[in-house]
Amino acid sequence: MKFSIQSRNDSLSNQLMEAAKGYLTDFGLVFDEEEPNIVVSIGGDGTMLHGFHKYKHRLEDTAFVGIHTGHLGFYADWKPKELEKLVISLARKEFNVIEYPLLEVTIQYRHSGDSATYLAMNESTVKSPEVTLVMDVELNGEHFERFRGDGLCVSTPSGSTAYNKALGGAIIHPSLSSMQLTEMASINNRVFRTVGSPLVLPEHHNILLTPVKGPDFMVTIDHLQLLHKDVKSIEYKVAAEKVRFARFRSFPFWKRVHDSFIDDNG
Ligand code: NAP
Repeated sequence: MKFSIQSRNDSLSNQLMEAAKGYLTDFGLVFDEEEPNIVVSIGGDGTMLHGFHKYKHRLEDTAFVGIHTGHLGFYADWKPKELEKLVISLARKEFNVIEYPLLEVTIQYRHSGDSATYLAMNESTVKSPEVTLVMDVELNGEHFERFRGDGLCVSTPSGSTAYNKALGGAIIHPSLSSMQLTEMASINNRVFRTVGSPLVLPEHHNILLTPVKGPDFMVTIDHLQLLHKDVKSIEYKVAAEKVRFARFRSFPFWKRVHDSFIDDNG
């Protein structure tokens, strides 16, 4: 089995990275940054996002596992002191692989006719470089609403505990293959109307955003942000690809929600 390590690059994470590399090599695993079967992420959930984007071209052959060197994470749920246990379980292949849904984002450009497709593990947001974003929202080919406001966010279930949660979105269990659309400060008055509630859409549904005002938009894909010019449309759907995590012990999602947001000693 080949492995790679993604570190947040602070001194504790780098120290653990060196220790993990040594232990895993001692147990006969091969360090391979190009084609790893296991990616050990050491840092936080943000570090896991970086690891995911580094290896998103080989998701079928890669499983991720995360150690947190700060607070408990949703992707990074192993403690540093559990490193040796983790290494032994990896070496003995004593783990299950679980899969979480991803988001596929396709941006079409007007004049060139080109398009670009991205995969997000947490979410994608759209904002305007001007103050107000104005976009028509279509669901499965039917006009749904004209959105005016700060922006829109489409998240995966595992990303629902991140930006989506701050926007008042629901926390979605990652076994539900779905995506969630949330609003950022929509303008609602006698003239302008949006639904106001987060929408949860299943697989095979799609969200199409078409610009009403301005062809240029700031689009984020997880931690990556780009200004896209001359945009014709932005389409969201649940991706065919999934991200795979190595699970060594039971740590139910709702327990992680409880420990992260309510009480980590309870
Ligand atoms: P970052 O500062 O590393 O991430 C922001 C925070 O989001 C960190 O505390 C990170 O946890 C946490 N986080 C990431 N994924 C999460 C998840 N699935 N569930 C719960 N918390 C999660 O910033 P970054 O590296 O640019 O990361 C981009 C992410 O930040 C985006 O995907 C977005 O979800 C999030 N974000 C949140 C807000 C908000 O809540 N208002 C605003 C913008 C962006 P760790 O400390 O463990 O890394």
